[in-house]
Amino acid sequence: MITTSIQPLEAPSPAYICPLDQACSYLEAAARELKLDQGLLQILSHPRKVVTVSIPVKRDNGEIEILAGHRVQHCDVLGPYKGGIRYHPAVTLREVSALAMLMTWKCALLGIPYGGAKGGIALDPKRYSVGELERLTRRYTSELIKDIGPSVDIPAPDMGTSAREMAWMMDTYSVNVGHAVPGVVTGKPLSIGGSLGREMATGRGVMIIVREALADQGKSLADVRVVIQGFGNVGSAAALLMHEAGAKVIAVSTGSGGVYSETGLDIPALKAYAAENRRSVIGFPQAIPINNAELLTLPCDVLIPAALENQITEDNVNQVQAKIVAEAANGPVTLVANQALEARGVTVLPDILANAGGVVVSYLEWVQGLSYLFWDEERVNRELEHLMVQAYHQVIKHSKIRQIPLRLAAYTLGVGRVAKALTDRGLYP
Ligand code: GLU
Repeated sequence: MITTSIQPLEAPSPAYICPLDQACSYLEAAARELKLDQGLLQILSHPRKVVTVSIPVKRDNGEIEILAGHRVQHCDVLGPYKGGIRYHPAVTLREVSALAMLMTWKCALLGIPYGGAKGGIALDPKRYSVGELERLTRRYTSELIKDIGPSVDIPAPDMGTSAREMAWMMDTYSVNVGHAVPGVVTGKPLSIGGSLGREMATGRGVMIIVREALADQGKSLADVRVVIQGFGNVGSAAALLMHEAGAKVIAVSTGSGGVYSETGLDIPALKAYAAENRRSVIGFPQAIPINNAELLTLPCDVLIPAALENQITEDNVNQVQAKIVAEAANGPVTLVANQALEARGVTVLPDILANAGGVVVSYLEWVQGLSYLFWDEERVNRELEHLMVQAYHQVIKHSKIRQIPLRLAAYTLGVGRVAKALTDRGLYP
């Protein structure tokens, strides 16, 4: 029997908040602030290349299933395309296109010489065996073989993927071209040229940006109560590093629900518990169960949405009590909610700054690979720290000078750098 999970490419319901529309609205706001030429805005609003492939996968029971895989390459004016590969049931072409655009601004804001891209397959990885995941990852990679490469487009992990998938991608690419090409992906295992510090990098970057924002308010991590939605790679690393820095992490959740403790959760113990319980935190001793909706509105100093987009919306934004919202996920605060938070004086640390640590260390991994010289973890973390702190202060400075919110300041810097490069390069032909 043949089954297919190819989905319609457009918005599924009227209530759906389209991440691509939101990304374009932020781009337009930045373009207005920059007084950008309309032609340039047109170029930057459109991805340069969009690839959708069918991925036939043989399930373990012998059935063939067809999945839809996307790769959107938004803009490569500053360097090779760069961005993660997402495995999640909610993946659509519009979502991947939005995330590709965010990668362009993120890389430009951090000053790393990449363009933005994103890939994704609409599937729930929990429903597939390791063998099935390997087969579909290899097929997806081979379908994209002409579109990726160490100086063309460099995938990395995103939601639902990890070093394991990157190793399969690197191997498939290498076998097809006839020699080992570690630089075709980042976020790969250390054994094949991965970088120390990459796994914790996005969470570490979130911690650095929150720490800097607190310092600007005369506070430190040791003074604050933190709530984190999402306990995957990013959320759990941010939780651990903040816990180590003395913050009280009072609640965390995964998709199936969360836990709360007024006195602060024991994060190392919670990580160990989640590792033993198929990544769920439910049932963790000495903590109260809490659902995701309750978690977002808990009284706290710092709220870190580290899961999916569109979590803080016009429906729940008035109940959000945090004074700082750090977007560890991409697009977790909707446009309308963002305006409401900014109007209330809440500090919103935008995704293209707050979660940039992952792609920064991806860049450091790529640089180490290209130079055949690998660094110790301390050096990687030092370089990450430098680039994150530098970008943070550029955004703060720009926001103060122009009297604009942090998100618009971050977008203006990112978009402005890409627009300048595009102008300097000129339009071909
Ligand atoms: N998926 C991550 C992001 O959204 C990392 C991308 C990369 O390392 O290329 O930033």
